[in-house]
Amino acid sequence: MAHKDTFTKSPTETGTLREGLLAWFGANSRKLPWREKYVPYQVWISEIMLQQTRVKTMLPYYHRWMARFPDAASIARASEDEVPRFWEGLGYYARAGNIGKAARIMVSDYGGEVPPDFDLLRRLPGIGRYTAGAIMSFAFNADYPAADANAGRIFARLLDIDHPSGSKEFAESVWRAATDLLPRGRSREFNQALMDLGSMVCSAKEPSCAQCPVSGCCIAFRKGLTALRPVKARKATVTQIVRAAVVMVLEGRVLVRKRPESGLMPHLWELPGGEVPEGSSPEQAIRRIWAEELCIRLGPLESLGVIKHSHTAFRVMLHAFLCDGCGPASGWAETGPRLRWVSIKELEKPAFPSAHRRIIRAFLERLAASS
Ligand code: SF4
Repeated sequence: MAHKDTFTKSPTETGTLREGLLAWFGANSRKLPWREKYVPYQVWISEIMLQQTRVKTMLPYYHRWMARFPDAASIARASEDEVPRFWEGLGYYARAGNIGKAARIMVSDYGGEVPPDFDLLRRLPGIGRYTAGAIMSFAFNADYPAADANAGRIFARLLDIDHPSGSKEFAESVWRAATDLLPRGRSREFNQALMDLGSMVCSAKEPSCAQCPVSGCCIAFRKGLTALRPVKARKATVTQIVRAAVVMVLEGRVLVRKRPESGLMPHLWELPGGEVPEGSSPEQAIRRIWAEELCIRLGPLESLGVIKHSHTAFRVMLHAFLCDGCGPASGWAETGPRLRWVSIKELEKPAFPSAHRRIIRAFLERLAASS
């Protein structure tokens, strides 16, 4: 298939498209807290929170975050455990770790400010090409493209891009179009106009072309191809995983373990457990995992239920058990920075993945019902 991967609008059409979008944005833009003053710190945090997360979902987290961490210095001063606690429930936890690292660099190298430089931004953890462009254009109104998934969808339709979304070719076509179309000196409005139009009018399932300010320039609309653009990416294979975890209670405390710094959900705490291999029951597997990894022989186990959850291409069934240990807590497992006994009253404090938080809630409800 021949791909049309260059921006081919005439200067007149380009002008019409820009003007149509900017006028529409002036009348219809979404009111969002970081758009009130475009404070670079607020723009940065909002952009990291919006990676993989919808505006409606992230807004309560954003407000809670700003009340506790009003600037990069307050993040840099916070304890290692506190930052992920404010991220709990948002998912993709590496983002919180990257914010912590980037904040410390901003404090040590840039006077606690977000640097107004695309290349310096790109060197900060968690900031890629799109995010650097978004910060440069929104916070500093500098002429950089910033095409998120919404903008990508609009370009795919406006220009009839027929590379599959998610492919390198698609990303490059969108980036080139976003660069070519950018009206110099108005990138803040223009980039946000694309995002808002994608969210409010040019939606993924049913674009409202009758209300679209740029339908006259849209090739997919003209050809009746809006339902076929962007071309769908091939679906990733979904892997089913069975895991098990234990709420070990001893002398009014529960044993928790810190997750590794690399891999899924770094910096969070968890109830110790692991994967259940094929051919093994969840109970057999969890007894073996605790014996091998923690040198603890588990006593009788009681089921706390099964939690189903998903991470990107994984579907997980998590079997939760309760074990009322016996004997003194000391000497059971060598505790340290990555393994801790936490008092039941303080179990709300550490940041847990949401599936483990659900297990803890089930355990606390059972405890309250039995007391
Ligand atoms: S005309 Fe329809 S498909 Fe084209 S950009 Fe507008 S809303 Fe999207």
